[in-house]
Amino acid sequence: MTAKDTGSLRALRRTNSERLLSALMEHGALHRAELARICGVSRTTVSTIAADLIMGNVVIEVIGDQVARAGIDASEVDGRARGFLQANPSAGAAAGLDFTLERVWCHVTDLAGATLASDGTQAPSDTPWQERLTAGLTLLDRLLDEAGLGRGSLVGVAIGVPGPIDLQTGVVGPSLPGQAWAGVNVAAEFGRHLDVPVLVENNTRLEAVAEFTWGAGRDIADVLYLGLSTGIGSGLLVDGNLHHGGARGGGGEIGHLSADSSGDPCPCGNRGCLVQYASLQAVLAKLEPVLGADAGLDELLASAAAEEPQTLRVLREAGEQTGRVLANICNLLNPARIIVGGELARAGDLILEPIRATLRRTAMSLTRDADVVAAELDLGARAGASGAAALVLRQTDQLVTALLTSSDSKPSEAV
Ligand SMILES: [Zn+2]
Repeated sequence: MTAKDTGSLRALRRTNSERLLSALMEHGALHRAELARICGVSRTTVSTIAADLIMGNVVIEVIGDQVARAGIDASEVDGRARGFLQANPSAGAAAGLDFTLERVWCHVTDLAGATLASDGTQAPSDTPWQERLTAGLTLLDRLLDEAGLGRGSLVGVAIGVPGPIDLQTGVVGPSLPGQAWAGVNVAAEFGRHLDVPVLVENNTRLEAVAEFTWGAGRDIADVLYLGLSTGIGSGLLVDGNLHHGGARGGGGEIGHLSADSSGDPCPCGNRGCLVQYASLQAVLAKLEPVLGADAGLDELLASAAAEEPQTLRVLREAGEQTGRVLANICNLLNPARIIVGGELARAGDLILEPIRATLRRTAMSLTRDADVVAAELDLGARAGASGAAALVLRQTDQLVTALLTSSDSKPSEAV
């Protein structure tokens, strides 16, 4: 056999390894015969490649109760139990870091998405970005250490920051006053310290990814997430694919869709933006005569629970304005489900019912029955970090490359 033949055989083996591992990451545990069918290769090829991947510790054989835990019908197992393969959840770890205005959160998972460690630390809004970066890396190292891992176990890291990120330059836009990351290429700066792919994404979109992966949006292909918080952000899943914000990444700014074209001017240049009616700040400002100037979410929720009439009216109006804007979005994109998150979602049906009623009244017939539900994950401020880890796990191609490369470098795999 010539050197050229050996090279092309090795390339073929690598391609087949990528196919098999991608299929296992996408589908979970699979029987060898199913794997051969999905990948379009012979059973013999599956066996040869699987033996390599098992030796490299990136694939494991699953048997008996492990097969049941992987969600496979026990009746399928008899006599074929040893034929099942699964990507090894412990072959690597995914990490998410999320910088909110006052804190940094970190979430570390195995490759099946199980939480290995999760925590947050203070990073006050006047902390410069260089110190925030150091605080994030220190937190990441502490959590990896708690999980008995090191940075070498990571297959990828995703970073969440407030504000839009210019997809062409990677630089964070200056949409918020006091935004420490404005003008910074976050992925490049973290990339200097981490020897793995680094992704950066807006943190409301990461909350959305957490819901799409593990919460109210799992197993649904067309979902819209709306975060009613200090600002109003969104995340969109179209045909099962995350929308990253369009040509330059600036899309998804639902808070600046106009709910009333003759409304008050908004700093963005538009009038009557949704954020002027349905953000937490807007609702608290309207209720200042009732709740006082220093009131926050707790006072608002207590007043709503006590059925204070002004509070109920302001929440209903916020829901109706949100419903008007969502009707336009439903007519354009027809999501099956709309997930409402952020602090105001904690008002429950007091805000969700007016959204549903307005949608039913104003959206077109095929789009108006979108299911409107509250966010399901009770993660609070750490939802963004959890979504960041989920974003890493969604990059199947990158994960497969990282796993096969680390597997190739192990002594047992030396050719
Ligand atoms: Zn605006």
